[in-house]
Amino acid sequence: MSPARRWLSERQRVEATGPILIVGAGLAGWTVATTLREEGYAGELVVLGDEPHPPYDRPPLSKGALRRTTALDALTLPGADRAAELGIDLRLAHRVVACDPATRTITLADGTALAYGELVIATGVRPRTLPGALTVRHRDDLAALWALPPDAAIAIVGAGFLGSELAATLRELGHPVTLVTGSGAPLADQLGPEIATVLARWHTAHGVTLRHGRVTSVAELAADTVLACLGSEPNTEWLTGSGLPLADGVLTDADGRAGAHEWAVGDVAREPAGRIEHRMAASTAGVRLGVRLAALLADREPPAPLAAVPYHWTDHYGATVQAYGHVAGDLERQVVAGSVDEDRVAVLCGRDGIVVGAVGIGLPRALVRAAKLIRDGAGYDPEAFAASLRTAAAAGPARPR
Ligand SMILES: Cc1cc2nc3c(=O)[nH]c(=O)nc-3n(C[C@H](O)[C@H](O)[C@H](O)COP(=O)(O)OP(=O)(O)OC[C@H]3O[C@@H](n4cnc5c(N)ncnc54)[C@H](O)[C@@H]3O)c2cc1C
Repeated sequence: MSPARRWLSERQRVEATGPILIVGAGLAGWTVATTLREEGYAGELVVLGDEPHPPYDRPPLSKGALRRTTALDALTLPGADRAAELGIDLRLAHRVVACDPATRTITLADGTALAYGELVIATGVRPRTLPGALTVRHRDDLAALWALPPDAAIAIVGAGFLGSELAATLRELGHPVTLVTGSGAPLADQLGPEIATVLARWHTAHGVTLRHGRVTSVAELAADTVLACLGSEPNTEWLTGSGLPLADGVLTDADGRAGAHEWAVGDVAREPAGRIEHRMAASTAGVRLGVRLAALLADREPPAPLAAVPYHWTDHYGATVQAYGHVAGDLERQVVAGSVDEDRVAVLCGRDGIVVGAVGIGLPRALVRAAKLIRDGAGYDPEAFAASLRTAAAAGPARPR
């Protein structure tokens, strides 16, 4: 179908017959809401979240907020403290338990039914648990960690982004920390062997005990507290029986559409390219959906979404690991600057002769240059790219004119 015909058929389906309801008051849901207002949508807009706090940013929970160098109130997302001024009906501590697309209604835990014109599903994910272990997903989860004596030994099961980052932060706070990494080094599956080698070295140098193997019970660990960092489950139970397509998340098309009047965004959404649990992906998708819905409701053709190179990061021991595009899995990969023996390294990743990703530590300019190659779909030539980085380094930083 041509883009124009597709827009016409979509326009017929998206009508302002009721409020836009956004379920999930996290980054993705709140970004959709504020973008709708910025784009001129003036209709009724309700955001429902089951947490008692205004929408807030989660990444600092394993970094500055846990360290208490960032105040919890500073995590509040822009505009979330002036929802009424923005004309957004923000209803906190409201849990949604059911959805019926046939009647376009959702049901709250207290039995209240709310009708919608368009529904945005932004309920995120929750941590997989291990009985007896703590988890970190919500700001209220930090209280249990702050209550521990400073010498409490902590075992962290799972060495993905969250487990590895929490190990670094809790170690910096003085706790004896054991990080259970399964078979490989921390973050090897997510960022590749080069970064995993550096992180394993850093953890060991800071006194984190790395333990390999599978843990199925907290009793197997000699620790005062166990933290489960075993990945997550999408929050889709309230959609069971709704007829919306569910399979490890809410299945959507590339525009975020899950049903005739239902959309999904953020960690809970599984687009054709997959389900992504990263901050920038959630905010980019939130902006994209807000722009699209505002245009459709105003009878305007939605603009083509800006092509953004996916980006994510993680902080360990004061350093930031940055990743653009695809950096894990079955890829060609080569170190193009620094080395794994240093604390600075950049790796270029390719697939089928095309640059698809770059990951590194301490070399942000090299990664920004690589991101341009990813954006342009450039041919994979790591030697030439490494040479261009050396030339740029020899020329020194560009001077402002
Ligand atoms: C500790 C931590 C550190 C992180 N660090 C990084 C990082 O360094 N870099 C990075 O790229 N990403 C990081 N992330 C990931 C990033 O925070 C997420 O990708 C982002 O928060 C996703 O936003 P979201 O709105 O989709 O989901 P969420 O932020 O989870 O928001 C969903 C909201 O919906 C609510 N909800 C769920 N079910 C219902 C219901 N039935 N009714 C009403 N409300 C409901 C939830 O309680 C929640 O408030 C981190 C995440 C965590 C937890």
